[in-house]
Amino acid sequence: MGEEVELIKEHLNVADVIGEYVSLKPAGANFKALCPFHAEKTPSFMVSPGRGTWYCFGACNEGGDVFSFIQKIEGVDFPAALKLLAERAGVQLTGQTRSHSQRQRLFDLMAAATRFYHEILANRSAGKRAKKYLIDRGVKAATINDFQMGYAPNVWDALQQWLGRQRYAVDEMIAAGVVGRSPRGKLYDRFRGRIIFPIADTQGRVVAFGGRVTPGRQQDDVGKYINSPEGPLYEKRRVVYNLQRAKQALRGGQPCVVVEGYMDVVLLAQAGLETVVATSGTAFTGEHVDQLRRFTNVLHFAFDADAAGWKATVAATQAALSAGMKVATVVLPAGKDPADLVVENPEGAAKIMQASRPLTSLLLEQLRASTETASQEDQLKALVLLAGRVRNPIQQGAMVQEIAQALHVPEDRIIDLLRQAQPVQPALNVEPDIDGGAAQPDLDVLAEHQLLGLLMLNRDVRKALFPYLEAGFLLDPNCQALYNSMHQIAEHKTSFFTMSGDELVGDFDVALVPLAEAIRARAEELLGTTSHTPLQEGRLLLRALQRRSLKSRLDALQQELMAAGEDSRAKALQRFQTLAHELAGIDNS
Ligand SMILES: [Zn+2]
Repeated sequence: MGEEVELIKEHLNVADVIGEYVSLKPAGANFKALCPFHAEKTPSFMVSPGRGTWYCFGACNEGGDVFSFIQKIEGVDFPAALKLLAERAGVQLTGQTRSHSQRQRLFDLMAAATRFYHEILANRSAGKRAKKYLIDRGVKAATINDFQMGYAPNVWDALQQWLGRQRYAVDEMIAAGVVGRSPRGKLYDRFRGRIIFPIADTQGRVVAFGGRVTPGRQQDDVGKYINSPEGPLYEKRRVVYNLQRAKQALRGGQPCVVVEGYMDVVLLAQAGLETVVATSGTAFTGEHVDQLRRFTNVLHFAFDADAAGWKATVAATQAALSAGMKVATVVLPAGKDPADLVVENPEGAAKIMQASRPLTSLLLEQLRASTETASQEDQLKALVLLAGRVRNPIQQGAMVQEIAQALHVPEDRIIDLLRQAQPVQPALNVEPDIDGGAAQPDLDVLAEHQLLGLLMLNRDVRKALFPYLEAGFLLDPNCQALYNSMHQIAEHKTSFFTMSGDELVGDFDVALVPLAEAIRARAEELLGTTSHTPLQEGRLLLRALQRRSLKSRLDALQQELMAAGEDSRAKALQRFQTLAHELAGIDNS
């Protein structure tokens, strides 16, 4: 398998692959982007085509190669990532594992079932009534094709018979969830007399079906909608309906519109709204947010305008805010679902779905309109709960202000409620930030990265500056680990100062390699944007870190001086003067 991996890496440019998921900006020989794995405003995600690697310097602090990227972003295991990239690279795989090919057979089975159902709806007399119903509801024939919609005939074993002729085993049909076995051992098609919506993963492979009863069919013991049971292919918490189609449009930065039903999605997409999705057979959860976050950070919820829909909106908004997403609510006319709107006004519907309002302001409006005290209290709590989920302190502060003003309640009261709601970690930073913002530490870490990167990259810089770098100059634990590694190599190998960057990184502990690679890329980025030589750049960085370290030691000493007794003060004062002198020396050089 190792050879195949290398071959695939040779055939693919990591930037091309990653560029399909995130928008990359050139930075020297490398690329920068907003990290797709965590919410952020300034790019800390780096891609280095030269090395075939990626790294997130932000919250993830993690990196790897094109395989680990695909595994992480597609939520698949290594064999699946291998297969995906092999296809892309045009590399023939020989050493596929058995479990992988079993899984592939289930995907093939689902594709075959999709074709079967679709053929019946599109062309057979058994599907005539269902097709007429769909056309009457405004679904065009082309849309039925696009979404591969189908019809499951009202027979106990139609699919089972057909799949049997395609040489699929009963166990495979059961594993895929299309055939069930009764307690008495009788086999039955799970979907009967239903319109079929194939549900695909983000790679476009069908993993489940949603089935809607056709009108006129007796509905005594059957739900309006049923879904495939969970199994090896389908985890309903993680699957978002239509995301495989919406993801391309989402990369343009458009908001993702989340609706409740498959029909809503189909009709809105037909009306030209490309970025519409729905959950499948379950409430919207944090795991759905994780899926969507790979492609967008803006969600518009457009749930039905009834009590249940309202509750779902609040819950979904909380889940999305917790993940740092921007969230808004689409206000639908009372009693209407998105599908109704499309039928009434196809052009206007897409517009309504994209115009949205922050949920806070909607809740506030309701609150003002409501007269019962109990419900006011409930809604205040809902508002506070929402505000508590907002990660960004500035956004949260604005929300608190908005709530306080609207309700004529002091801001302190809201903040108190917030604290009660989240005793563990109050998300609200009420202390004024005297030191001038939280961006500072990041800049410092950047300097540490750049200097270490230069030391790896360039032998002259290493020879001239490494002896002057001290562990105490570095605050970032990752940088300290890298420094210690370099220090050890320097002690044990006389060739330390003449090694190439690759040789040096090859000597690091394996666990440090992705970080080391990414840090080298950061230094390359720096060199691509400066007119200084690497050595000049290295000197500036070393000096800045040295200065920072001295300053913090001076601060500590100052504290010590204030607390010191007569005799120890003299000594501390002496040290203080030495350090101050050193600091002046750096600043003048
Ligand atoms: Zn990240």
